[in-house]
Amino acid sequence: ARDLSRDDPAVQAAIDAELHRQQDKLELIASENIVSPAVLKAQGSVLTNKYAEGYPGKRYYGGCEHVDVTEQLAIDRAKALFDCGFANVQPHSGAQANMAVLFALLQPGDTILGLGLAHGGHLTHGAPPTVSGRWFKPVNYGVDPGSQVIDYDALEALAIEHQPKLIIAGGSAYPRTLDFARFRAIADKVGAYLMVDMAHIAGLVAGGAHPSPLPYAHVTTSTTHKTLRGPRGGLVLSNDEDIAKKINSAVFPGIQGGPLEHVIAAKAVAFGEALEPSFKAYARQVVSNAKVLAEGLAARGCAIVSGGTDTHVVLVDLRPKGLSGKVAERALDEAGITCNKNGIPFDPAKPAVTSGIRLGSPALTTRGFREAEFEKVAALIDQVLEAARTGEQLEDVTMHVRAEVAALCKAFPIYPN
Ligand code: PLP
Repeated sequence: ARDLSRDDPAVQAAIDAELHRQQDKLELIASENIVSPAVLKAQGSVLTNKYAEGYPGKRYYGGCEHVDVTEQLAIDRAKALFDCGFANVQPHSGAQANMAVLFALLQPGDTILGLGLAHGGHLTHGAPPTVSGRWFKPVNYGVDPGSQVIDYDALEALAIEHQPKLIIAGGSAYPRTLDFARFRAIADKVGAYLMVDMAHIAGLVAGGAHPSPLPYAHVTTSTTHKTLRGPRGGLVLSNDEDIAKKINSAVFPGIQGGPLEHVIAAKAVAFGEALEPSFKAYARQVVSNAKVLAEGLAARGCAIVSGGTDTHVVLVDLRPKGLSGKVAERALDEAGITCNKNGIPFDPAKPAVTSGIRLGSPALTTRGFREAEFEKVAALIDQVLEAARTGEQLEDVTMHVRAEVAALCKAFPIYPN
């Protein structure tokens, strides 16, 4: 095969630079992970050439016999992994998976009740600039100001008041275990569907480190690229045959055309990996590492939203440090530590500034980091935050932390040649 560096050196150079960034920096973005070479191989395959509108065995194109195999493998493995009766593996992304559910179960103008963006929810759960906020009537629930945990009583009161057609559980910056039984009880009380968007925690659910929503939700959506450690993509699951039919029609032809069969093959590979016993150990380690990170930062004077974590997410309130999320994100990045600024519940700062950073343990756990390394990571983060706060010796500290980061990355390499 010809080499991309000869065919398109500009693109190859950027890919190489990105590989080195991933190899040489500490990835703490909670929504990211590091896929296996097998996942990369499937995604980079000739399956990208194939049109396959429809579903395995019922396609609108000829020549689908091989992509039928890979898509059926992805479906069967997803069903086995999450112990459910139906899986649609075609959504191009998590947003598409959520869109498909709204399109399948609701009419424009129907009320939806989701966790507010500022309290850890996702844009697609009713935020004003999205289809979910523009074409539906969104109502937000949130966390209790004291405990910073979802206020289920207030959620129930909102559900009774607004009579939503759909309640959405799940979020992008919520560090605590979700009480799916309580969500379902509230949904039943008002005759709403319950959708659980487990995008962030899907790998923890697959690995048994977070309770499964499947016994409770009418429909469950996910991304495949976060804790689940697959290619970028979406997934819809259900145990309800009627809903399953509606979801299939909503994904295709409702909101998508041809499925990305190369990505679906990569999903099959990732689901196969997640079915291995080692993935259970991975999921447990992700949670254990996040706890060590949260405790390490709390011991050094950071406030941790909700007081800790049950998941892979650590939401850090930087106000005790006198730093904004924006400044912290930049200072950490300079030192080789990648994360994102993130609003905290009831954040007084603007969304472009924020009072917090969101950290996550999935990617570094994939590298092989355990508790001792995460204790070290907490110490390095604190050194940068302290130097950024005081402005003292920021350059020296940045150089020192960069060297420590390089040593850690060298000790736990990814994608070696
Ligand atoms: N749902 C949740 C809870 C998410 O965190 C995300 C991604 O951040 C999505 C949906 C959307 O996924 P995607 O970026 O693949 O569209």
